[in-house]
Amino acid sequence: MTENLIEAAADEAVTLTSELIRIDTTNTGDPDTVVGERAAAEYVAEKLTEVGYEISYVESGGTNRHNVVARLPGADPTRGALLVHGHLDVVPADPAEWSVHPFSGAVQDGYVWGRGAVDMKDMVGMTLALARHYKREGIVPPRDMIFAFLADEEAGGKYGAQWLVSNRPELFDGATEAISEVGGFSITLKDDVRAYLVETAQRGIRWMTLRVRGTAGHGSMIHRDNAVTKLSEAVAKLGNHRFPLVVSDSVREFLDGVTEITGWDFPDDDLEGSVAKLGNISRMIGATLRDTANPTMLTAGYKANVIPSVAEASVDCRILPGRVDAFDRELDDLLGPDVEREWMELPPVETTFDGAIVDAMGAAVTAEDPGARTLPYMLSAGTDAKAFQRLGIRNFGFAPLQLPADLDFSALFHGVDERVPVDALKFGTRVLDRFFRNA
Ligand SMILES: [Zn+2]
Repeated sequence: MTENLIEAAADEAVTLTSELIRIDTTNTGDPDTVVGERAAAEYVAEKLTEVGYEISYVESGGTNRHNVVARLPGADPTRGALLVHGHLDVVPADPAEWSVHPFSGAVQDGYVWGRGAVDMKDMVGMTLALARHYKREGIVPPRDMIFAFLADEEAGGKYGAQWLVSNRPELFDGATEAISEVGGFSITLKDDVRAYLVETAQRGIRWMTLRVRGTAGHGSMIHRDNAVTKLSEAVAKLGNHRFPLVVSDSVREFLDGVTEITGWDFPDDDLEGSVAKLGNISRMIGATLRDTANPTMLTAGYKANVIPSVAEASVDCRILPGRVDAFDRELDDLLGPDVEREWMELPPVETTFDGAIVDAMGAAVTAEDPGARTLPYMLSAGTDAKAFQRLGIRNFGFAPLQLPADLDFSALFHGVDERVPVDALKFGTRVLDRFFRNA
């Protein structure tokens, strides 16, 4: 009986994911052009109220930027609540590049296709299906659960999680731990042995502007104080700079776990070379061994024969946990005092891979995939976890999916032909159900 009901919830997760993909929630980063989040929030609100939830429906600092938060009381109200959050927006997709229309939500060849299939309408669909299942069946989880469906993650959460944490923190009252993207997916390490990667850390994001001033003048003259020349030197220096190799705790635990399963060695003197053995996932793991600073935009001048007085560059910096001060000192040395720097920053995130919640994740995974292991890892990018860390909440990426060994999962994020296996969604719903009942 229970088994049939959870299978029905798993089927519903597939339907909900597909229907959510059909709502185009493209987030361009320009608030004026973001329109679809509202329809998705209304869809989620209706699915929750239909089964009896009282919801908070919140506009977060901008027109059409809507969020839905609902609570499910647990058996022990003295325990901290578990927050399960997911974002409803997606990055843009160009239909001309895709095999199926990115907003079709097509269910074919064993996959649900479309923008958001792995980032992260899959997790939203699974969460929503279980929230509905629990309410309909009167299932009481061990502690309070808070379900949050959020706007604007893909542009940093200014009109979503960050806004809610600043302006409506009471919505998350009592929450001590949270799960969301990007983690819980499997990698196949040998034959049929899988590791499920739980995200316990994230690099910080710093979007930095470099500004150099010089003397304006005529382009035909001898000119020693050219802002464009000075900026170019600074950009080249920073772009070519290699920050030191740092093995954070989460990376070390991950590599040790892989060694235990496979016997592979990750020697300190060839860490980056040996990480390549991990295959597709090495792109993600490799990016968590150092800070990075990639120049992305240049702005200067307005006419070929006029030397401008100022030149600017944008640099996308990603900084490891514990490295922010050292990163600043390194930039001071590298760029000197004449290069002005200003930035928007979201700090690194880090928690430990231990405690009852981590045990519950492991137990839920191995109940559905005997012989598997959960391992911590660090995400090279950032998520809404950065906002919830401000409330002192421990953040984990745990959106479980059992994936085929040959699927290049990390390439699907923001990629062409983003899709999620139907079986993975059903597997993930069963794992989450076990986890929610024991977390
Ligand atoms: Zn995402």
